[in-house]
Amino acid sequence: MFENSGQTDLSQLGEFGIIDLLTKDAKKVQASTKLGVGDDAAVIDSGDRYTLVSTDMLLEGVHFNLSYAPLKHLGYKAVVVNLSDIYAMNGTPRQITVSIGVSSKFSVEALEEIYAGIHLACNFYQVDLVGGDTTSSKAGLVISVTAIGTVEKDKVAFRAGAKENDLICVTGDLGGAYMGLQILEREYAVFKGAPTSQPDLEGMDYILERQLKPEAQRGLIQLFKEKELQPTSMIDVSDGLASELIHLAKASGLGATIYGDKIPVDHVTAQVAEEFSINPTVAALNGGEDYELLFTLPLDSYEKIKDIPEIRMIGHITEKGSGVYMADQAGNKITLEAQGWNAFKQD
Ligand code: ADP
Ligand code: MG
Repeated sequence: MFENSGQTDLSQLGEFGIIDLLTKDAKKVQASTKLGVGDDAAVIDSGDRYTLVSTDMLLEGVHFNLSYAPLKHLGYKAVVVNLSDIYAMNGTPRQITVSIGVSSKFSVEALEEIYAGIHLACNFYQVDLVGGDTTSSKAGLVISVTAIGTVEKDKVAFRAGAKENDLICVTGDLGGAYMGLQILEREYAVFKGAPTSQPDLEGMDYILERQLKPEAQRGLIQLFKEKELQPTSMIDVSDGLASELIHLAKASGLGATIYGDKIPVDHVTAQVAEEFSINPTVAALNGGEDYELLFTLPLDSYEKIKDIPEIRMIGHITEKGSGVYMADQAGNKITLEAQGWNAFKQD
């Protein structure tokens, strides 16, 4: 049969190493391709504005477990995670396409349930479902969504663009989706051992919703318009604050320092983290799937944002080569590492 002589394990390169390797020879031949690989969405010049395109794929057994992810929520989440990437460019999502790979064990009703969630998200975020693809799958359910959006040319926010002394800001709170997942996994393990037991999910609504039915931060894009604020850089928090901050700093060619006590963590997240013997700050740094927005603003925006509760200032951008750190209250600096999601990590 075919020769497949390569011996390098995917895990040696990691997700980002593989993307770099596979895309480094991609040539741009279209003048309209403003930005290809490397940001939350590709940026395409469509004349008076930019078109934004982003794709994400969710796989059963990797990104979700059908034993505890309600199908309607799953459809909703598959859309939201893509819209989040459009908002991360300071854009407005307009259309989506949805592709599914589905095994024969699925019923028509189950697919309808997933699409009920997709339609709900389309309605809430005012985007149109305009196409997709349907295939059979031999290894679980696959949902891939592509989101298309637009942004005014002078409003686009890249990962690159942060300036020294810029304020580092984030929306909402972090670590909740990860702790929600820990609760679901724990209760699922209990259930597998004793199938008649009832899951103990009391008081967990907030973090379960963060995991199962997250929202994208369209309110921030609106707020930027109303307050006439222009982020110098932006990224969505899909892999954890540490990983995203490293992306921003690296893309901008600068360093960053954030303050541990400024990182917003919800009280239920903190309480559950402690139950699991996880430091809540570590859950926020490395947890992922929060779909909040991390961005930078010029220092002189301080007066405009200081009383806006949706925006938390957590640090500032530092000079080139200064590294990416978290400072604790005692003034100790901890080097941040991207310990977020690595799709090819070996357990
Ligand atoms: P995000 O977390 O914002 O969805 P990713 O980390 O998934 O972004 O991807 C980073 C960049 O790499 C994006 O520009 C994405 O389009 C690109 N990318 C990811 N996988 C591939 C691939 N297999 N081929 C080409 N580009 C890819
Ligand atoms: Mg992103």
